[in-house]
Amino acid sequence: MLDKSVKRLNEAIVLYSESLSDTQANSEERSLAYANRSIVCLQLFRYEECLANIRLARESNYPARLAVKLNQREAVAKKSLAKAMKQDAERMEEDPKEELRLSYPGHEHMPHVANCLQLQQNEQYGRHVVTTRRLKVGDVVMLDTPFVKTLQEDCRYVRCDFCHAERPFTLIPCEGCTWVMYCSAECLSKAYDQYHRYECGVRRDAYSVCGRFPATALRATATAISIFDGDLVALQNHLDALDESRVNGFTMDWRMATPKDVYNTVHVLPTNQERRGLVDRTYQILVAILLHKAMVERTELGPKCKASPKMDKLLFDLIFRHVQTIRCNHQLLSFYEGQPQEKCFEYKLYGAACYPSVSMLNHSCASNVRRLYLPDGRCAMIVIRPIDKDCQLFDSYGVPPILPPQPQQREHQRGSGLITFIYRIGRDMHDRPQTSARSGREEKFTPDFPRPRPIRS
Ligand SMILES: [Zn+2]
Ligand SMILES: [Zn+2]
Repeated sequence: MLDKSVKRLNEAIVLYSESLSDTQANSEERSLAYANRSIVCLQLFRYEECLANIRLARESNYPARLAVKLNQREAVAKKSLAKAMKQDAERMEEDPKEELRLSYPGHEHMPHVANCLQLQQNEQYGRHVVTTRRLKVGDVVMLDTPFVKTLQEDCRYVRCDFCHAERPFTLIPCEGCTWVMYCSAECLSKAYDQYHRYECGVRRDAYSVCGRFPATALRATATAISIFDGDLVALQNHLDALDESRVNGFTMDWRMATPKDVYNTVHVLPTNQERRGLVDRTYQILVAILLHKAMVERTELGPKCKASPKMDKLLFDLIFRHVQTIRCNHQLLSFYEGQPQEKCFEYKLYGAACYPSVSMLNHSCASNVRRLYLPDGRCAMIVIRPIDKDCQLFDSYGVPPILPPQPQQREHQRGSGLITFIYRIGRDMHDRPQTSARSGREEKFTPDFPRPRPIRS
């Protein structure tokens, strides 16, 4: 539990970051927001972040009339930082952090999946994953990298929109939309190159009007277009030549895979269109129409689409396809927050993502594997019930990756081997700073509607 005064300072950090997104680039308001954030960092003994904010304030035309105050604060921060570094050097080195690894060797062509897993297909289950050896509880059998990931709205002022790291003290806004914030100029640049240039003008409305999964579908579309460097004709030719029935993420050589190869595995994910009711389908068409109109009007794709009805149709089809596939193949990103001494933890959501390999698993309410999200964005698939040789792995789509214990259950679950193991990994992996800011809002898990996926042919 954080001290009250620290909690208030953390709330102040989040509010100053929020105020940044309402200011113009190089404006006095922007520089004052950075300068004010530097004061809070100083009070939280975060000297490096204090100095970073002072630098950002100066780069944003901090007014000369206040320069003396900023200089004084900088001197205090530098002196305190030097003292703190000296003390740190004298402390014992901390134990190295545990790194999660596969419990068995990976496939030669697919190092992120244990070599005992195979993709099979039959009439009853469609495409599904089985194990060729008996698996025990706690085995890690997949470490999948997301094709696309998005941040939950209430985490925008706490985490970087690109790498999802918690960096509330030094976030900087995208100058285009000021909706997304990044931990560094490097993340801002990578995000822009990998997708944001085709979503910047649309992002704010996509999330606020359409919601979480359409916003993730928008990013998947923008990522696909970025892979082809905005060349819609090249993208069209690629899709025309693609034999979807031959795309198989379990036989593809991931070590040599190009971004286009990885996209193929996402492009062919099931849409489950034929299983949807009229209302659901109508809603998805409406979402696709809204996103398409916004992308044409507010991104550099507009002139290309207006000049060519074929390209315009390609863009709509792509959006509509991703609205459907992301709906039934997106995973909710989460972590565990808790008191290590009491071994109690709480489930917290912070975003959504789409994983090519994890998406191959079928659903069961009595699942035998669960997902654990690592801070670098990867998803670990962990065995939670023994699985016999030649049996199928089942994920659970509609519940949290690892169910959080209810208050009355916590007493019984203390010391539970699996829960403790997963909690420890989640805590160590995320390693949130002691004084990190939270939004202060109540975060509740709201399960999606049951997703009638896999069983695909
Ligand atoms: Zn980042
Ligand atoms: Zn932007």
